[in-house]
Amino acid sequence: MKVTITKNCMGDRRCNDLCPEVFEYDEDQLKSMVKFDKIPEKHHEIVRQAAEECGADAIMIEED
Ligand code: SF4
Repeated sequence: MKVTITKNCMGDRRCNDLCPEVFEYDEDQLKSMVKFDKIPEKHHEIVRQAAEECGADAIMIEED
């Protein structure tokens, strides 16, 4: 699984709160970032949930 965050991110950090192991906030770019190139299996479920709950539809998932 690969995840990218688009420029639509409105920086409310909801994904960061939900899964800080995967998402972090970039203070320079004022948007969230993904910590992994390839998301570890154990985080897949929570990442899918974060994508569903993202109010800006900014979390793009590419499944393997
Ligand atoms: S939940 Fe969506 S809009 Fe909010 S910080 Fe994460 S990617 Fe950005």
